[in-house]
Amino acid sequence: AAKSSRSGIEIYRPEMSERLLRRAQLASRLQHALDEGALELYYQPQVTVADGTLVGAEALLRWHDPVLGQVSPDEFIPLAEHRGLIGAVGQWVAAQACRQLHHWESAGRALPGQLAINISPRQLDDPQFAEQLLELVRQAGVLPGKIDLELTESGIMIDPESSLSILQKLKDAGFSLSLDDFGMGYSSLAHLRGFPLDKIKLDRSFVLGMLEQPHDYAIVVATIAMAQSLGLRMVAEGVESALQVDALKRLGCSHAQGYFYGVPLPAEQFAEQWLNT
Ligand code: C2E
Ligand code: CA
Ligand code: CA
Ligand code: CA
Repeated sequence: AAKSSRSGIEIYRPEMSERLLRRAQLASRLQHALDEGALELYYQPQVTVADGTLVGAEALLRWHDPVLGQVSPDEFIPLAEHRGLIGAVGQWVAAQACRQLHHWESAGRALPGQLAINISPRQLDDPQFAEQLLELVRQAGVLPGKIDLELTESGIMIDPESSLSILQKLKDAGFSLSLDDFGMGYSSLAHLRGFPLDKIKLDRSFVLGMLEQPHDYAIVVATIAMAQSLGLRMVAEGVESALQVDALKRLGCSHAQGYFYGVPLPAEQFAEQWLNT
């Protein structure tokens, strides 16, 4: 049996894996999601390790499709990158983040610190990226200093020279720059030297293992020390337990994010829980 889709490119064959079928479905639905407002940002608190004071939040994308249900960003972001939709998705995220900052501010519930947004490596391929982001933020009436851009190591190393010039431009404009998933990429130390970073986010796999695996613990210790001596802020990701908090506090880690403090929440609930009137 053969069945062709609207675009005529899918021929059903018994060997076609469910995964391919799902990807094709997702890709065609994602464009609709953008058009129909099926995307939403959730917000997860970032706090000081010392006393849990709110210092900012990370915006995390959620997609609820009426047919496919909830789709994880770990699944649809790579797909958006592959299908050339990441530029549009990224623009939506930045615009929505600005609208939200503005909204909280005018409601007398301004977010302290910064709102972090995730930047896909593929967005850096667009030569207009920096200009467009700046323009968007300007038009939204938000100061770039309120926004923290999270980039991954592997992302900026695809084309280090071009990344550097883009990141320098954004840094000069006032955005703050974070290195996400630190420790999971390759040659991490070179990035710290070469790029105008403000913050590193230690990947949650190290925090997860730090109390059981001596190697993970050693990496956490070394990263905290390095961040301190380089004058970088450090955020430990994926903090889930009081024991981890105690250890991080003892080691002098400045900031943290994770389920222990708060899960990502829709804007309203985040404000209820974290933003005082
Ligand atoms: P990420 O940037 O490393 O985001 C952190 C992920 O860890 C989020 O998953 C968050 O919900 C989860 N998390 C936070 N605290 C904990 C914890 O204590 N324990 C555990 N186990 N997990 C925790 P999420 O929201 O599913 O996002 C997955 C990934 O999708 C993100 O990883 C990021 O790479 C990507 N992503 C999400 N939103 C966007 C976006 O707007 N743009 C782009 N380009 N990528 C995004
Ligand atoms: Ca992130
Ligand atoms: Ca991360
Ligand atoms: Ca990650």
